[in-house]
Amino acid sequence: MTRTITLLGATGSIGASTLDLVRRAPEAWRVVALTAHSNVPELAKLAREFSAEVAVIGDPARLEELRAALAGSNIHASAGPQALVEAAARPADLTMAAIVGCAGLAPTMAAIEQGRTVALANKEALVSAGEVMMAAVARTGTTLLPVDSEHNAIFQCLAGNDLAHVHRITLTASGGPFRDWSLEQLRAATPAQAVKHPNWDMGAKISVDSATMFNKGLELIEAFHLFPVGLERLGIVVHPQSVVHSMVEYRDGSTLAQLGPSDMRVPIASCLAWPARADTPLAGALNLGQIGELTFRAPDEVRFPATRLARQAAAAGGAMPAVLNAANEVAVAAFLAGRIGFTRIAEMVEAVLAAYAPSAPRDLAAVLAVDAEARARAEAMLVAA
Ligand code: NAD
Ligand code: MG
Repeated sequence: MTRTITLLGATGSIGASTLDLVRRAPEAWRVVALTAHSNVPELAKLAREFSAEVAVIGDPARLEELRAALAGSNIHASAGPQALVEAAARPADLTMAAIVGCAGLAPTMAAIEQGRTVALANKEALVSAGEVMMAAVARTGTTLLPVDSEHNAIFQCLAGNDLAHVHRITLTASGGPFRDWSLEQLRAATPAQAVKHPNWDMGAKISVDSATMFNKGLELIEAFHLFPVGLERLGIVVHPQSVVHSMVEYRDGSTLAQLGPSDMRVPIASCLAWPARADTPLAGALNLGQIGELTFRAPDEVRFPATRLARQAAAAGGAMPAVLNAANEVAVAAFLAGRIGFTRIAEMVEAVLAAYAPSAPRDLAAVLAVDAEARARAEAMLVAA
């Protein structure tokens, strides 16, 4: 049976991994929409290869370039933030939400409004919209499948069990490339060092988030919404080998864990095939005898304050996770642009969080307004510095 699929963020790391799986099972999928931010040649190439119905470029200034690149095909070209939302609203059996940042929130919400299946990689969207997104999921009857490897692991470990029997959910963290660095070394860390993750090959933003541990902070908030067992039942453990992707401990003392190679095609395949299973080239790739040892240790929130800040934002609730996410997005972009040092990222997020507490957003427009204001405050802090 052929299913239809839309990829929001088709040119990114998750987009490429997803399309690799789609490419291997051409009879299983028909592509509805592919989107990208600014890479027209890559988007056009993918749209032609997969015979997409529509291709959307986020940057409105590139519409003519996209039209020219798709000339002679039947693929409809469009551009701009509203076109992204319209593409996401086109009927598709499954939508892969893989835009990076809160920029993906409105399209992801449009996909949720379809009431079908949304595979969510875009964690910033869920962190920012929290209750608003989960309410839309419940109202529309959407099947929300977590792509993030930790949440996909937890989702798999929860299958057939009752959330009420969960004692604790533990997210594993690689600790990132600076796991063993001193505070002094962290102050001098460069963007090139930060984007070189030891285990995973990912986009620049999430790679910096892994280095600061904001990735785990965002994932804690993500888990808080996806698996409502209460913040006090959510823990984090550093596991440098990235083999155990997360764990669920039940009230009887049984802990279930999901293991796999550090390749996002494994959790993505689990979402694409859910509730069944599909072949991937990664079957057989995990060789525990060769890995030898799996190690675990508690996170250090002095060198890496991000998880503490995320826990505080989740506990405060309301708009605070959106503020944390927005400030982090601005700080990460400033770090990648060489405007601030590495340890300044968490300092900026903490300062923006301390500066104000907007009221809880009740709908998408209110979430976007909180995001915009928090960004403006973070930008102002950059200019003032
Ligand atoms: P990436 O930077 O490689 O790709 C991002 C995609 O989003 C690209 O297609 C880009 O064109 C598009 N995009 C960026 N800004 C946009 C904008 N303003 N408007 C429209 N489109 C825009 O990122 P990635 O690593 O693939 O991550 C995507 C999402 O998945 C992130 O939320 C990330 O946290 C999450 N995620 C990624 C991984 C991973 O291994 N890469 C793992 C878990 C979760
Ligand atoms: Mg993850």
